[in-house]
Amino acid sequence: MIPKSRSEIMRAVRRENTGPELAVRKAAHRLGLRFRLYRKDLPGTPDLIFPKHRTCLFVHGCFWHRHPGCVKASTPKSRRDYWLPKFERNVERDRDNEEALRRLGWRVVTIWECETRDPEGLEDRLRGTFGLPPAPR
Ligand SMILES: [Zn+2]
Repeated sequence: MIPKSRSEIMRAVRRENTGPELAVRKAAHRLGLRFRLYRKDLPGTPDLIFPKHRTCLFVHGCFWHRHPGCVKASTPKSRRDYWLPKFERNVERDRDNEEALRRLGWRVVTIWECETRDPEGLEDRLRGTFGLPPAPR
């Protein structure tokens, strides 16, 4: 058997079309933004790609990707020697992917899972990101 590289394993494990991702797509769609999904030729396979805005967007789970200061990014009390290196690798990989994308001339935006639970806030966030006028409320 041919051993798989770590990135191949991560790709296999990674879940696509999660609830938070769908919420972001819905908001982006409502704003008339055009985007593509999961371009595997780009570092980290961004969740949404907005070619016109040269912007890659990641929708990160707060726990796995360690949203700073977020209650959902708690650290399990037991087996810390298992969790901490795992978290560290995730954060490191995210940072490496972002850097690689920026080097390729992309802007990188991260939306956290907890931000996707508030549809109005999410829409405002996208409006700000893409220079659209504020929502008429
Ligand atoms: Zn969070």
